Amino acid sequence: MGQIELKSFRDPLPVMEEFYSIQGEGFNSGKAAYFVRLAGCDVQCFWCDVKDSWGIEEDQFISVENILKSIQEAGAKFVVITGGEPAMHDLSLLCQVLKENGIEIAIETSGNQDLRGDFDWICLSPKKFSLPVDSVYKQANELKIIVYNNHDLIWADELAQKVNADCKLFLQPEWSNEKEILPLIINKVKEDQKWNISLQTHKYMNIR
Ligand code: SF4
Repeated sequence: MGQIELKSFRDPLPVMEEFYSIQGEGFNSGKAAYFVRLAGCDVQCFWCDVKDSWGIEEDQFISVENILKSIQEAGAKFVVITGGEPAMHDLSLLCQVLKENGIEIAIETSGNQDLRGDFDWICLSPKKFSLPVDSVYKQANELKIIVYNNHDLIWADELAQKVNADCKLFLQPEWSNEKEILPLIINKVKEDQKWNISLQTHKYMNIR
């Protein structure tokens, strides 16, 4: 089985992996969550820790019906759709089916394109390589900036001006650089209290 053209899908969707775990980061940190990691990413950050998700393989496709079935079998009530860049795909049918079955839906996106789907929680995690579109700034419930260096803190303030007034603001150290960057983030959050710290607690817990 080989890679196929990077393009948008609706049903079936290319799923790189799906698993029931704990949301480790951001506003919903600590909450039981079923993760649906969709394949395909057109952003391609150099520090990406899920590079395997960039391409789409022929054998990755799962119908929306079967995605629902796995979520129900796991007993999950909260789903996080992530990637890759999940906004590449039309998620309207997946959202509709999950909603009809009483499942809460969050998405983690770079926001580099309009979202298709009805989400309960939108976590916007912008990437410099492919900036968010206006519609996602307006819709975002959470802005989560991955901080790799000092300049990212300045960039974070610029982006905070673009999101809606109710959007929760998080600074998260990039994992490979956490020791160096965390003290800077701590100082920033103490000085400018609109920001909160997000840590990848699933990595401390040694879970996915
Ligand atoms: Fe990796 Fe996410 Fe960046 Fe895509 S947007 S390259 S999946 S970190």
